Amino acid sequence: MRARPKKPLRPTSVKAGFGRNHISFTGSAAKCPRCPIIKKVNQIQDVIIVGSGPAGYTAALYAARANLDPTLFTGAIAGGQLMITTDVENYPGFPDGIMGPELMGLFRAQAERFGTTVIEQHVTKVDFSGETHKVWVGEQEYSARTVIIATGAEAKWIGLPSEITFSGYGVSACATCDGFFFRGKEVIVVGGGDTAMEEANFLTRHASKVYVVHRRSDLRASKIMQKRAFDNPKIDFIWNATVEEILGETDPLKKVTGARLKSMLEGKTWEMPIDGVFVAIGHTPNSDLFTGMLEMDELGYLIVEPFSSRTKIPGVFACGDAADHVYRQAVTAAGTGCMAAIEAERYLEAQQHVAHAL
Ligand SMILES: Cc1cc2nc3c(=O)[nH]c(=O)nc-3n(C[C@H](O)[C@H](O)[C@H](O)COP(=O)(O)OP(=O)(O)OC[C@H]3O[C@@H](n4cnc5c(N)ncnc54)[C@H](O)[C@@H]3O)c2cc1C
Repeated sequence: MRARPKKPLRPTSVKAGFGRNHISFTGSAAKCPRCPIIKKVNQIQDVIIVGSGPAGYTAALYAARANLDPTLFTGAIAGGQLMITTDVENYPGFPDGIMGPELMGLFRAQAERFGTTVIEQHVTKVDFSGETHKVWVGEQEYSARTVIIATGAEAKWIGLPSEITFSGYGVSACATCDGFFFRGKEVIVVGGGDTAMEEANFLTRHASKVYVVHRRSDLRASKIMQKRAFDNPKIDFIWNATVEEILGETDPLKKVTGARLKSMLEGKTWEMPIDGVFVAIGHTPNSDLFTGMLEMDELGYLIVEPFSSRTKIPGVFACGDAADHVYRQAVTAAGTGCMAAIEAERYLEAQQHVAHAL
């Protein structure tokens, strides 16, 4: 059943943008005379959401539909990680698949439809030490009773320009997401840790051959993951080597056709025909902003209570890839974004700041 919004949508747009509540400007908010953001600057808000990937927009959708009037800061990459990919074939509801940027446009439009104020700015500082939480964009300060952190993570890349050229066209950092496109093909996995072994093993479900290219002569992966990879007849190892260049065609369509490898021992290079390159050298959660304030694991992932998005600080919630080093999928990020909004709403209700439940 299709529910109607509980309240009329407010025309808060100050600039023609993607959606109804798009706010994007360069100066201080308080200096913009017509800007509805002044309201946001001067009031203590119920919910501020930091991040605009699947987790952030889903949290915004649920918070907006609970009449919490959320404000969402997009950060530098409005839409998050899926903005740099092509086909997304595993997000439920899209049987024919959907392009990553298009999917994120729909996420945003849905969050805006119910009144989310989207601010295209990067949060530069936070303070969760008081009863009211504070978030800054440069000099501009915002206060909120609850903050939902959805700052995501970034895949580590080798650093080659050709990686960018062929990203989404044969170069990937996610076997779960893109392995399916390599049915019967040969691929390289770059890396020597647990992630690389996991990706290599997973890829053998689809690919005819998987070559693990590792810069050393031994793996960092746990013994059990190593054993699984060594026992897999579809996986071969190329030791003491790096990928120096990803080779491919760009006309008429972009596609990877090979890789130039370099021996770490002799320095010699050689070209190898290949259909895809999976970079599996880890992820970095975007959590530096919260150092010293929120609990993190040794890799920087935010720690939340089990089966929850609650951090140790009352009123601060974390969701999506920033708090998940295991699943790292759009649908799990969206799911935990939903959890964060529901938990924020319940927290506010307990604090008697809102009257209505979801
Ligand atoms: C190339 C690629 C292909 C992928 N393909 C698939 C796929 O097919 N299917 C699938 O399910 N998953 C896929 N994934 C994984 C999926 O993209 C992620 O799991 C998902 O995007 C995580 O969502 P998120 O909301 O947690 O974070 P992200 O999508 O990482 O978004 C984080 C957001 O936080 C913002 N941000 C960060 N710091 C700040 C700050 N200080 N202030 C304000 N905002 C900030 C960023 O600008 C960004 O908008 C892919 C990932 C990559 C890299």
